[in-house]
Amino acid sequence: MSFSRFVIKNWLHLARFLEAPINMISLAHRMNWIKPSPTLAMAAKAIALKAQGKDVISLSIGEPNYDTPEWIKAAAVQAMADGQTKYTPVGGTFDLKQTITQKLKRDNGLIYEVDQIVVGTGGKQVIFNGLMATINPGDEVIIPAPYWVSYPDIVSLFEGTPVFINCPIEKEFKLLPSQLAASITLQTKWIILNSPSNPTGCVYSKDELSALAEVLRNFPHVNILTDDIYEYLLYDGDSFSNILNVAPDLYDRTLVVNGVSKAYSMTGWRIGYAAGPKHLIQAMTDLQSQSTSNPSSISQAAAAAAIRGPNDFLKEWRTNFAMRRDYVLSAFANIPELQLIKPMGAFYLYIGCKGVVGKTTTQGKTIQTDNDFCTYLLEDYGVAAVSGDGFGLSPYFRISYATSTKNLENACERIKSAIKALI
Ligand code: GLU
Repeated sequence: MSFSRFVIKNWLHLARFLEAPINMISLAHRMNWIKPSPTLAMAAKAIALKAQGKDVISLSIGEPNYDTPEWIKAAAVQAMADGQTKYTPVGGTFDLKQTITQKLKRDNGLIYEVDQIVVGTGGKQVIFNGLMATINPGDEVIIPAPYWVSYPDIVSLFEGTPVFINCPIEKEFKLLPSQLAASITLQTKWIILNSPSNPTGCVYSKDELSALAEVLRNFPHVNILTDDIYEYLLYDGDSFSNILNVAPDLYDRTLVVNGVSKAYSMTGWRIGYAAGPKHLIQAMTDLQSQSTSNPSSISQAAAAAAIRGPNDFLKEWRTNFAMRRDYVLSAFANIPELQLIKPMGAFYLYIGCKGVVGKTTTQGKTIQTDNDFCTYLLEDYGVAAVSGDGFGLSPYFRISYATSTKNLENACERIKSAIKALI
């Protein structure tokens, strides 16, 4: 074979070879389809700057500033004392899965059998497995934007196509039934719903969910992934609904995802779960059996105790979160550069910042994007926030108010000064 024929025939292999510097392990192509989680990246940046002695207030990560309640920790200690330190069934202990079915009935009026539950290492792994088990190349996943940073990357990793629908602040960050209907194609595999939402805190009412369900009824090939991780973080007496509460007929094509991270301040324990059709739960469990095996046995025991309750401590947390949200809303109320609406859940504010775009810092740098603005806040004022580009809708930035009131007050003052200093 001539050299030129060899090159033509093997161009892909050669291209891959040339991509990696000599003596380096070349990475799979799929690594081009994802980026590191922007929320985790910003949190890590803030920690690194603090470690260097810089005065940084982090509003970047979605993590309650409270400690995991003592009685939940005590359940973990007891589990260790009882020898629950070995492998458990891959998809979770019977006790935890049964507790989850009881919770779904108690809090959500949803009926699941134990073999319709899988427990994983955080909600993120459960979503990852659910999408990995179902997406074929070219399948489309509808993701209302702004969205939680990891949804599109997980879809892309499995060669699916994320289909974004813009839901700006003027629409209260919510997906309209007409937008949904217009986005569905024959390739649509899933729609992802997340209420209360990360990053906006917006909450879909029963009527709004009914209207979306009405559209979905016309498209039986579209499945629904509902990420309910912020279920318990609702304010001003607002109540939580899952789409299945208003449309039980969608049960067979819905995957309900939840976890203990946010409500019980157990982010580090890494316990999430899903409830759904048996064959899908089995497939997700099989995937897990070839990747991580069971989530931590000790965390599972703690999660079972957390879910069993009592969870009356949440009342105080909710009151405090609502006060902090209200503080930020009033602190930024008269800043014409910023746009805000009052969210009813989660612990985020997704703040429009088109008023700062085009302005210049005292160092002579022009703010062209929300990312530039967040860099300016971090570098010049020591406030870590996450820019809207990571969440798929610009120009905005997200702050998490799940931090101490003192931190929040301090950070808001800095943000106000930062904006005031722009020319
Ligand atoms: N979900 C949280 C956040 O958005 C934790 C970080 C992450 O996993 O994205 O900040």
